[in-house]
Amino acid sequence: MSGPVVFDVVVVGAGPAGCAAAICLSENGLKIGLIDKYYFPREKICGDALSKDALSQIRKISESLHQAILAHPNAIESAKIRIQTPNRKSYSFHLQGILENRIMPRAETDMTLLEECRKHSDISIMEGTQILNYSENEDSVILETNSQKITASFVIAGDGANSLFMSRLNSERIPKYITCVRGYYKGISGCDPDHSIELHYLKALLPGYLWIFPLKGDCYNVGIGITEKRLKRKRIVLSKLFDQVIAQTPDLAVRFSNAEKTGQLKAWRIPAFTGKVKRYSRRVLLAGDAAFVVDVLSGEGVGNALRTGWYAAEQALQCFKTGNFTEEHNRAYELRIRKEMQPEIRMHKRIVGLIRFPFVLNFALGSARITRFLKRKITGNS
Ligand SMILES: Cc1cc2nc3c(=O)[nH]c(=O)nc-3n(C[C@H](O)[C@H](O)[C@H](O)COP(=O)(O)OP(=O)(O)OC[C@H]3O[C@@H](n4cnc5c(N)ncnc54)[C@H](O)[C@@H]3O)c2cc1C
Repeated sequence: MSGPVVFDVVVVGAGPAGCAAAICLSENGLKIGLIDKYYFPREKICGDALSKDALSQIRKISESLHQAILAHPNAIESAKIRIQTPNRKSYSFHLQGILENRIMPRAETDMTLLEECRKHSDISIMEGTQILNYSENEDSVILETNSQKITASFVIAGDGANSLFMSRLNSERIPKYITCVRGYYKGISGCDPDHSIELHYLKALLPGYLWIFPLKGDCYNVGIGITEKRLKRKRIVLSKLFDQVIAQTPDLAVRFSNAEKTGQLKAWRIPAFTGKVKRYSRRVLLAGDAAFVVDVLSGEGVGNALRTGWYAAEQALQCFKTGNFTEEHNRAYELRIRKEMQPEIRMHKRIVGLIRFPFVLNFALGSARITRFLKRKITGNS
């Protein structure tokens, strides 16, 4: 594309938040641009797990999309979640038939979402287009990209953890992050045949954990995450810590002794909840990781990215319907997030505060009452 480009709404980022927003906006008589700096399929550093919540958000977007993900040839369903405490006791909770989930490479999940966007003729998809800068005016947003200038009446920024829009709207705040590394392995021994999701709470990582998530064909997504603050304070090199925790945890060392790492460890960050993030202006709304809505307890962000992408699009549609493009009006988006999502995010933040201490997890999972409670929380069953 060359020359000036004008859209009603530009959605920046074609990850889950951006795709959900673009689909929600479509078929409302608007000209929509969905822009991503990469060409798809693109790699996304992730645990590759789609929770029940993520799948139910996908279902809200489109029944056929939901079916496409469930039946994806590279998706597997995990029948069990296995949690190991710092004292290396193991607790398993059955998921099959209770908690729908899928694990599949994120590149393929996101490609499936983008394919759904392609079905809508009012969404112009611009891959390989990076937003380098923007300015927000009274009646438009001017976006400078690596190839041309784009003008939009409204922008939904789903541009991920290092969001340009988030840093501009929050220039006086210092956001918090969790840094993660993940790699792919083959041949880890002792994995359950029913594809257990494994969470290993280890003293060196608390309140974070080491995960082993099964993929198709004896392949596993393995990773760890800790707060950026701790990483800097203790001058930790995360890839070294990753090797150390495996080597120094006897049962894991045995299980990884014949495992083969396929490719390199890769790092990315998770925005950690902060109640103070500003997620709106007159003509810009933040969604997904850019809006800091990842669950800090589990590190799960796809469900909330889809949810906030959808909410942001509904708010944008309200702006066009009423002709009201004021900050005051867009505060409704912020209030909706606070009302519907923040109670859970806040509760999980409190739990994260508690499980910094190994004895809390050892005790909690050793207690029949708490494991019953956890089982109800995890599976949603009473
Ligand atoms: C190691 C790790 C493991 C995780 N595991 C899980 C998990 O198992 N399950 C789960 O639910 N969540 C997991 N998460 C969180 C999850 O990956 C994110 O919450 C989710 O990807 C957020 O979606 P998004 O659409 O907001 O952002 P992204 O998926 O990051 O998409 C943002 C898009 O914006 C594009 N973009 C960025 N800047 C620009 C720009 N300037 N111009 C144009 N395009 C731009 C990017 O190319 C990208 O495609 C994990 C995160 C990490 C780091």
